[in-house]
Amino acid sequence: MPKSNIRVRFAPSPTGALHVGSVRTALFNWLFARHNQGVFILRLEDTDVARSSQEFTRQIIDSLNWLGLDTDEGPYFQSQRLELYRQAVSQLLISGRAYKCFCTPEELDAQRQRLRAEGKAFIYSGKCRSLSPEQIKDLEQKGIKSAVRLKVDPDEMITFEDIVFGTIQMTAGKFGDFIIQRSDGLPTYNLAVVVDDHAMGITHVIRGDDHLSNTPKQILVYRALGYEIPQFAHLPLILGPDRTRLSKRHGATSVLELKDQGFLPEAIVNFLALLGWAPDETTQIMSRSELIRRFSLKQVSRSAAVFDITKLLWMNGYYMRNLPQQEIINRAIEFFATSGYDIARCDRTWLEGIIRLEIERSKNFAEMLEHLRFFLDEEVRYEQSAVDKHLKKENVDLRLRKVAETLSALEDFTQPALEKALRGLAENLGVKFGHIVHPLRVAITGRTASPGIFDVLHFLGKERTLKRIQFARQFLIKSDDSNAEMTP
Ligand code: GLU
Repeated sequence: MPKSNIRVRFAPSPTGALHVGSVRTALFNWLFARHNQGVFILRLEDTDVARSSQEFTRQIIDSLNWLGLDTDEGPYFQSQRLELYRQAVSQLLISGRAYKCFCTPEELDAQRQRLRAEGKAFIYSGKCRSLSPEQIKDLEQKGIKSAVRLKVDPDEMITFEDIVFGTIQMTAGKFGDFIIQRSDGLPTYNLAVVVDDHAMGITHVIRGDDHLSNTPKQILVYRALGYEIPQFAHLPLILGPDRTRLSKRHGATSVLELKDQGFLPEAIVNFLALLGWAPDETTQIMSRSELIRRFSLKQVSRSAAVFDITKLLWMNGYYMRNLPQQEIINRAIEFFATSGYDIARCDRTWLEGIIRLEIERSKNFAEMLEHLRFFLDEEVRYEQSAVDKHLKKENVDLRLRKVAETLSALEDFTQPALEKALRGLAENLGVKFGHIVHPLRVAITGRTASPGIFDVLHFLGKERTLKRIQFARQFLIKSDDSNAEMTP
């Protein structure tokens, strides 16, 4: 049960996947609601029928669920509330605060171009403002469709206190009579948003600052309908590290794509919370409950926030290391399964064992999978740079052969036994340990970096290890005859 009267909403349009900017808005609303023990509502603004889809609605809901941003009410769908908007428009028509506009798109376009040529912004001329009831009837009888415009007094001053941006002031003459219902009978955003925010008892409208310029219009709708005006808090823009508009180029993708890349919801929530808000100058890592406890709109900054994917990776790595290990293991297994690995065929203890090797070393599950593929795949894929650096070297074939002999004679394939055997071999051959380990690592993992070699050998097992060494030796013979000649 809510303990305060605070009610906020997240109102995305389901016309695309949920991106970083929108989800930050959702998160700030959610944190504000939870901090104040208020109500968090989800409302889908889907009146743009052509661009809205159920698939996007599902993605939005899935993204919020995955991040743990639970809603108290909704989802409401504007497409199911059209009657409410019609009633509001009709109230405004009856009270004379709005009027029907029969201007055709061509007419309006011509006007727009004329004004543009003069370097002016479009403001409706007010042509249909004073049509008589007879004229209206006449036009309607001819079947001409009309939009509805709010009648705006150009001298009316609109002032409001934005919680983030402070006092905002604008005269209505800046935008003139604007459309609240299109000629197809659908409400515009500025009408529907006001009707719904009022009907849903929204106390605080928290949204991106791209809507700052819509707010004066909405305030006029509130006034015309006689509704109480909520408080507004507009959130700063999010930019890439190069200070340009945030895009995929910056690694900023949809929430579900971040999920597919193996990021943890805990890290994403922590990271997004700091895009435009900070409780102090230094704190970075905050648990969900700490975020709720400390969150305040008063500390939201006006200046643009910077989305830095390397910071997200760092933060994700932190959560990988610091969440309960079993939890990370379970999620990693789930991630591997959804990435197409037939995990059910693997021995669970073995699987947990190899994941444990990588928890400290990976920043997300995609990286972890990349590092562990050589365990899961039947065949090893060589990285060219690794081959050049450690395989195509003098005496490598000889050394690999010696390693294979040593390992095949080994009964005990545990880490200490492996270490003893391989160190012994290096000594016998009179070479540095690295001269054995580096080529061996490339031979069995395909890479120059891996978890500790004895762990790798242990988990790969004797049979697969020997097969891979054999494969590497054949590969060397095939790819370099001079190397083959060096084989004694
Ligand atoms: N549907 C609008 C959007 O996605 C909502 C803006 C608002 O919160 O008022 O931008």
